[in-house]
Amino acid sequence: MARWLLADHGPSIRLTSSADGVLSATHDAGASEALVAALAAGDPVPAPFVVRTFSPVPSARGERAITVDQTNESVVVGERLVVKWLPRPERRAHPAPPVLAHLAAVGFTATARPFATVSVLLSDVEVLLALVVEYLPDAVDGWDWCVDAVLAGAGADFAADLGALTAELHTAFATPSEVFPAPRRSAGTTALIQWADRAEAAVEEAVALTARAQRASPPTGTGEAGAGGELPAGAPNDGEYADPAVGVAEDRAWLLANAHRLRSAVATLRTIAGPTPLLPIHGDLHVGQVLRWREGYAIVDFDGNPTVPPSPDGSVPPEPAARDVAQMLTSLDHVGRIADRRTSGTRTAEIDAWIHDARRRFLAAYRATAATAAGGGGLLDERLLAAFEVEQECRELVYAARLLPRWRYAPMGTLRRMFPAEDRTLPEGDS
Ligand code: ADP
Ligand code: MG
Ligand code: MG
Repeated sequence: MARWLLADHGPSIRLTSSADGVLSATHDAGASEALVAALAAGDPVPAPFVVRTFSPVPSARGERAITVDQTNESVVVGERLVVKWLPRPERRAHPAPPVLAHLAAVGFTATARPFATVSVLLSDVEVLLALVVEYLPDAVDGWDWCVDAVLAGAGADFAADLGALTAELHTAFATPSEVFPAPRRSAGTTALIQWADRAEAAVEEAVALTARAQRASPPTGTGEAGAGGELPAGAPNDGEYADPAVGVAEDRAWLLANAHRLRSAVATLRTIAGPTPLLPIHGDLHVGQVLRWREGYAIVDFDGNPTVPPSPDGSVPPEPAARDVAQMLTSLDHVGRIADRRTSGTRTAEIDAWIHDARRRFLAAYRATAATAAGGGGLLDERLLAAFEVEQECRELVYAARLLPRWRYAPMGTLRRMFPAEDRTLPEGDS
């Protein structure tokens, strides 16, 4: 349906549509380097392709793939740029171009500097195929560097760094720019009820898929991160994944016995009085999206929330800051679960204490940074946190049930911490 031949007899980029309208984007070997060369040289862009440039693309030669688990396909060109290809583009505007333009306009620099985007114009919608950003040398994502820090007994200082960084991101999102002239909104009771509906649906789906479904044989293999998100992206091997068959009966029993507690936790959203503040948020913020590189931290991957349908016009719907904060808090818990798994339960008490400390330090640093930033105060409505954390863990269970069964132990461990045993009676089963 659209093809860009990047050089004479050179590699090309293609966008095709299946009979039922599902898009897929493909490119030949060498296309990342050839794309950078075409952009650097200012070659003409054939319609219906559209190139938008944030700053002039430098020339760079040679390419190598990034090999961590990822949803999309990122390629390093000349140790200078990263081309992130989106193989399964959707027929809607992608949030990353406006979000990156906004963050650059308000001076938020803790991300990979964007250079250009490549899209295809399909009935007035720019469908994003590739993003070209600065390569960050020595970058390691948080599923590696955070877990390593816990295993090394390095304490929870980095959790405070992450809290401050998240507050800086939200403050930047809340600062008006030409791209988002009025980023701060507020939501009333109707929205809170919709969020409660959405969270309750996530609880029901998690219980149905995890506790009621009977699987003959659980899927095996690695690298399933893909279609529905990338929660454990960056995991270097499967050391931290449990055998999904282990503990499955206990997990089912626990979920059935505790489903009512999960439901009540998310139902608290119905009792919260509006208004509550809204702003553009990251939408998929976990430690795997925070890179530690030669010069500090960078938050990447502004693809939005993979599990929530975006607005049809592609606009970035404002959301509560509490969604990002809740997801970061649960991902710190998951860091602990991974570390516990890797040490075969020999350091559980120490790791549980670390999880508690890390979460406390994350929130304290978030609050302190937001309070001192111009316009940062009042961004986070902490009344939403507990419900959003439970919703997030249910989404992780759904993800595990659908795509990565061995990840189930992490959200199950987090839920057991959130809802410790009330007494010693046997589970009484679901209502
Ligand atoms: P996905 O949507 O596929 O998860 P990300 O944007 O999160 O894509 O990038 C996937 C991985 O690629 C990251 O976890 C990180 O390891 C690496 N990466 C992404 N951007 C950069 C960059 N600018 N410099 C170096 N490595 C990067
Ligand atoms: Mg990612
Ligand atoms: Mg992504």
